[in-house]
Amino acid sequence: MQGAGILATTPLWAEITSTVACGQPIGSLIPLGVDHHGFEPSLADRGRLDASLLVVANGGGLEAGLDDTLAATPTPVHRIVSDGRDPHVWLDPVSVADALPALAEALIVHAGLDSVAIEACRLALDDRLRTLDEDIGKRLATVPANRRSLVTDHATLGRFADRFRLEVIGSVLESFSSMAEPSAHDLELLAGEMRRNDVTVVAVEEDSHDSDSRRLAERTGSAIVEIPLRLGPEGSPTGTYEEMLRTLAERLDEALRR
Ligand SMILES: [Zn+2]
Repeated sequence: MQGAGILATTPLWAEITSTVACGQPIGSLIPLGVDHHGFEPSLADRGRLDASLLVVANGGGLEAGLDDTLAATPTPVHRIVSDGRDPHVWLDPVSVADALPALAEALIVHAGLDSVAIEACRLALDDRLRTLDEDIGKRLATVPANRRSLVTDHATLGRFADRFRLEVIGSVLESFSSMAEPSAHDLELLAGEMRRNDVTVVAVEEDSHDSDSRRLAERTGSAIVEIPLRLGPEGSPTGTYEEMLRTLAERLDEALRR
């Protein structure tokens, strides 16, 4: 089968890559429901990676547990981001659209996919992403100016906030990864910052069981809003990239207006 042997690191990049590849099935190294920050590959995963034609990675330090394996594999690695900003790049649909030409090029060069077909599929996805961006932009544009600030569990929403003009005043973990731990002093400073800025929303990654964020919310009388940052199971409200991002925007929108 043409296109067999392309892998992505995460289910979300597997979906996007598959769409650019005109629906070819693309596997994910990190299984659905597993935190991309903490994932460690098995020997079998390494074998699968080494036998692939191309691997598509988020990059920017997101898949920290995979970095050594990606550096060692003979398989070409296409990284969506290489800068040191917030690596949760898929939370900005325009950044995703902007990353597609280079991804399409990698599919053509390394996996031998047909360039005319790929270009048509990329353009169709580009259109959908720009519609998604407009819809979310319109929805969040009407959140009042004094209700646009929030705190997150780890530094997840930098790109989303930049794109849709929200303000993240701080994170429980001042880290792009969910693998760090905050000190009591850090939490006290953040609580003070929240009170001074009248911030009453703490956004935590869905299913993260983050007790520090919950304590911070209790201490400051804030609401916890669970936000999806990864793909959910097929058929769930976060089963596709587009559904995930719309659900994320909807939950933030409701929490900020409360
Ligand atoms: Zn994260």
